[in-house]
Amino acid sequence: MHKHWLGNIMKTAPGARNMEENMKLQEIVANRCGKEISQCTNEELYYALLEMTKGMAEEKVSNQGKRKLYYISAEFLIGKLLSNNLINLGIYEDVKKLLADNGKSLAEIEEVEPEPSLGNGGLGRLAACFLDSIASLGLNGDGVGLNYHYGLFKQVFKNNLQNETPNPWIEKESWLTKTDVTYPIQFGGFTLQSRLYDIDVIGYENRTTKLHLFDVETVDESLVGEGIDFDKEDIAKNLTLFLYPDDSDDKGRILRVYQQYFMVSNAARLIIDETLARGGDLHKLNEYAVIQINDTHPSMVIPEMIRLLMERGILMDEAIDIVSKTCAYTNHTILAEALEKWPIHFLEKAVPQLLPIIYELNSRVTKKYDDRSVAIIDDEKRVHMAHMDIHYGYSVNGVAYLHTEILKNTELNNFYRIYPEKFNNKTNGITFRRWLLHCDPEMTEFITSLIGPGFKKNAEELEKLGAYVNDEEVLKKLLAVKGTRKTELKNYLVKTQGIELDDNSIYDIQIKRLHEYKRQQMNALYVIHKYFEIKAGKKPARPITVIFGAKAAPAYIIAKDIIHLILCLQELIANDPEVAPYLKVVMVENYNVTLAEKLIPAADIHEQISLASKEASGTSNMKFMLNGAVAIGTMDGANVEMHQFVGDDNIYIFGESSEEVIKHYEKADYVSRSYYENDANIKRAIDFIVSDQMKAVGCAENLERLYNELLNKDWFMTLPDFEEYVATKERIYADYEDRMAWAKKMLVNISKAGFFSSDRTIAQYNEDIWHL
Ligand SMILES: *Cc1c(COP(=O)(O)O)cnc(C)c1O
Repeated sequence: MHKHWLGNIMKTAPGARNMEENMKLQEIVANRCGKEISQCTNEELYYALLEMTKGMAEEKVSNQGKRKLYYISAEFLIGKLLSNNLINLGIYEDVKKLLADNGKSLAEIEEVEPEPSLGNGGLGRLAACFLDSIASLGLNGDGVGLNYHYGLFKQVFKNNLQNETPNPWIEKESWLTKTDVTYPIQFGGFTLQSRLYDIDVIGYENRTTKLHLFDVETVDESLVGEGIDFDKEDIAKNLTLFLYPDDSDDKGRILRVYQQYFMVSNAARLIIDETLARGGDLHKLNEYAVIQINDTHPSMVIPEMIRLLMERGILMDEAIDIVSKTCAYTNHTILAEALEKWPIHFLEKAVPQLLPIIYELNSRVTKKYDDRSVAIIDDEKRVHMAHMDIHYGYSVNGVAYLHTEILKNTELNNFYRIYPEKFNNKTNGITFRRWLLHCDPEMTEFITSLIGPGFKKNAEELEKLGAYVNDEEVLKKLLAVKGTRKTELKNYLVKTQGIELDDNSIYDIQIKRLHEYKRQQMNALYVIHKYFEIKAGKKPARPITVIFGAKAAPAYIIAKDIIHLILCLQELIANDPEVAPYLKVVMVENYNVTLAEKLIPAADIHEQISLASKEASGTSNMKFMLNGAVAIGTMDGANVEMHQFVGDDNIYIFGESSEEVIKHYEKADYVSRSYYENDANIKRAIDFIVSDQMKAVGCAENLERLYNELLNKDWFMTLPDFEEYVATKERIYADYEDRMAWAKKMLVNISKAGFFSSDRTIAQYNEDIWHL
């Protein structure tokens, strides 16, 4: 049905196009519901818009060039798609107006859409931003991943603790389109039939690409019992239920191996089929395909592709050579525990057919290099996935300047000395369509009124805003727009979470996965410090609202204890009439892309306070910067580059440098207890964690465990940076009071954000790695 009307649209002059679309929406609504738009529920309208948008995406051309990129990733944190798709189709304003003319609100219709929870944090969101940029730049490339039915998990707070529940998002009608593609995927002892579902990725006023999500037909949602518990051994039924099943035991860990192999075997088969369908020659696979391995989860694509090529008659030597010219690897972390190493016996059980290939790949490496540290299989019989990627891929990239330097000079130095030519940096980026155009249309319009619309396609044009740095009218308007976003956030949180904000307070926001290296605990200690200061009569010039949003991995005990600490502080402070008027702590429940889109445009200050050397890049820092928030942060990840762009006056930097931190680890000379004993502020804040007041709202066991962790271990060195953090917070809050000076900082941050567009990042990947 869409085909016929879309045909008309394509032939119609651009001016007349929108009218046609509006008529089309009316027609779809009439067909589906038998009534007028004004009589429909938001739900009915959402599904009508879904149908219309999918139809329009289907009709858009994709790039059919010779060489095609396959971006394989265990995560694609795509967020809701309706508004973003309408924006990229160029019909957002018209649809919004048509709905408004019929008494309907697009914003309310959006609320109907469930957020797919196909990712965990920055890495998954990056993959989603990359797909947007690939489509928007018109490049020939698709994403490949898994269709998790319950995604990560939904976070629910109860008794100031995090609970996990399933997060279902696949409804009868969704952005998924079932395809005919299916493959038999063989595991040790059994075979599962796969099924491919596609989501169209619509570029901004450009072509479309696809996100290919593989699923297994036998998956059974009824396997899930209490919370997110399920039978981890029933692979046919559980394979695509959850992203990152709990890996605290071997059953959960081996399930990840099954998932990873399922993902890459399907991907490799799809790549071979598409290459052959386009008349390609598998002996020259690298001329037809490039595989970007996003972190180590898809690493088994290397031995699997070699195996499949050999099945098709290509000899081992050649197959290895072809695959090595086709695969490129992105490293996302220097945390040793995150670099996957699978025990050989896991692979023997799950994917025995890969072992002869992996043994061969390892033996070639060990014959050539004496150094055991670069072997693929170590002395404990574990397979190092990253090592396989580096030896048998042609490119290794880090995700920010500092991160890549640390990879080259320390973490992967032994590899860098063998293959200096493979190493390169690609500083992460974000799509400005979602993180400005969609999440703050008013700011977008204001910027457009000043510098024209060019920045929407060429982010560097934001620099032109620099001309207004002393224009008082412009600065006032910036503050006014921010104020409106703050009020909207207040209204949204009251409605959705029952949280009351004071929109005249400073919004100081830290939203990201909960991890000790990101140091939410330092921010929480600051809150305790401030609490005591206010009690002692040192009231802040303006109330402060400290907002957190974070999920903790279900098996990460200390991370969950930190959430407990924050939730207890939230309750305790809210009930203290001496402090509550000046300080408020808020932890939003179930932080996800949808919440990020509301929180970020409303932020005054954002916290990027990871222990230097530990945050590979960060991308929320870029989103905040683009939305005119000012960072307090360490010299870590992309903060280093942000600092370079905006200068000392427009970002608040503190803390030990990555070199100093790396030295502490080398010398093992950090003793947290000595900071506790020698600093009265630190002692007071840490002792408060286990005070009677806290125990009255919290759970003694959790609080004591966290107290002991900070006192006796503090592996991510919270305490050495604490005093400087406190001093820097006081400075940033004081500077906030000079509203015009603050507005200048906002403007400079926005104007210098252009570099952090994922369009730039993707153009660099293409230029240096993909050559599409
Ligand atoms: C951008 C984003 C992240 C990444 O945040 P970092 O602070 O860079 O770790 C995580 N989760 C969501 C929902 C995001 O949008």
